[in-house]
Amino acid sequence: MPDPRSVTVDELVDRYEGMLLDAYGVLLTEAGPLPGAAQFVKRLNELRKPFCVLTNDAAKLPSTTARRLQAMGVDVPAERVVTSGSLLVGHFARHGLKDRSCAVLGPPDSVHYVLEAGGRIVPVHSDFEVLVIGDESGFDFIPTMDAALSSLFARIDRGAAVHLVVPNPDLVYPAGLGAFGFAAGTLAAMFEGALALRYPDRPELTFVRLGKPHTPIYEEGLRRIGTKNACMIGDTLETDIRGANSAGIDAVLIGTGVSVPDWATTPPALRPVATLTGFAP
Ligand SMILES: [Mg+2]
Repeated sequence: MPDPRSVTVDELVDRYEGMLLDAYGVLLTEAGPLPGAAQFVKRLNELRKPFCVLTNDAAKLPSTTARRLQAMGVDVPAERVVTSGSLLVGHFARHGLKDRSCAVLGPPDSVHYVLEAGGRIVPVHSDFEVLVIGDESGFDFIPTMDAALSSLFARIDRGAAVHLVVPNPDLVYPAGLGAFGFAAGTLAAMFEGALALRYPDRPELTFVRLGKPHTPIYEEGLRRIGTKNACMIGDTLETDIRGANSAGIDAVLIGTGVSVPDWATTPPALRPVATLTGFAP
């Protein structure tokens, strides 16, 4: 299979009616905006070309992410940011979870997302109907995890239903140069390991995942930009590119972030249609 072809920003702008953009490794890093990102977004705004930023973050509100980008000169309004946390509104509506008792792991913005979705917040040591893992931060880790696990076991033992959801399925996040951290998806994997051990014949006891590479976040992004003639520009094969391929839209890998692929060994599900060096001219 030939390597994905290299494209320019001009070609992408001409070819697609709309764009979905990853944030970290595409528009910014912890250190600041990536070269050319501000000019690229300015161009999309001037052309009135619809775009959305898709981020797996469920610990910060879209307005917080938009403000951070704007402070770096990247003019993304809050309504153009789709976080995995914001998908809880649609998820709760589709699954009839409004007014259900919800235990939430995460900082205040994660709790805000659940309230916005119509959930009723209860402590983790109580008999909750829904467990939402919003983030790995914002709580006393082991005691809270243990309390949630004990409540979960008690509920399942007596035959009651439970709904498990983790908006951000990421396992690891880059915390800086050479530094990494466990992300929310790792917590879900811990619960799933414990559930599989106690209930080996209940394989359905797993978390619903909403963020990239799962399709709900792409569906919401495409709904907001109002066209399917769009490409996803991302820096990570396993999330951005895999998800775009699953969602049935073109994926473009940008060279300013995580993935530096060897195309000879990259499976089809992870292959973009094209590569872009970066937004800098
Ligand atoms: Mg990224």
